Amino acid sequence: MNKTENQIDQYADEKEMKMKTSVFFIEANSYEQLMLWKEFKKETNWEEDGCGFTQVIGFIGGDENMPVNVSFFFAKVWGKRICFFDVCSRFSDSEMVMEWIKKNYPVKYDNLQRWAIKNAMNFPNESDVTDAKNIIGKNYFDDLEKWENSFYCNECGCDKITDFAYDRTVSNGEVWHCKHCKTETNVSDKPNEDNY
Ligand SMILES: [Zn+2]
Repeated sequence: MNKTENQIDQYADEKEMKMKTSVFFIEANSYEQLMLWKEFKKETNWEEDGCGFTQVIGFIGGDENMPVNVSFFFAKVWGKRICFFDVCSRFSDSEMVMEWIKKNYPVKYDNLQRWAIKNAMNFPNESDVTDAKNIIGKNYFDDLEKWENSFYCNECGCDKITDFAYDRTVSNGEVWHCKHCKTETNVSDKPNEDNY
């Protein structure tokens, strides 16, 4: 694998990790996101994540000339990741977006009774966020979060996966290095969805 492929791979990995560790999906455009940040930043201990992405999630009537493109942005509230989504293409199908999220990142809250998908008007409260669980496998969700939290650079103290680059897999986990100071760190194995 050459360097460019490796970087693309890692970027895809980061996107997927953020999606899979999101406990709530909130439909909000950039203005609504800004308003939510203003209103909730203090009480939620809001941690902004500047790195989002857009993705085509389907086509209207299967027509490739009519893609539905969605933007995804992230933040942490009460220590948990939430995902903001917004259709940014000319063609839009909100039902398709909901179904896509439910199928690929199925998270529920309220004792697994309700889908963890809301609009900006109904921002979740702390107990909703704490209660939200991935319904595919609760342990997978938790293990993925543990993996994400195992990143720590002894040299400069950075602790976000986005500060690190993957090097190699070893017998007791994976070796990644800090992008800032190149210090290597040993993190636990990334959990494999197929094992749950
Ligand atoms: Zn470092």
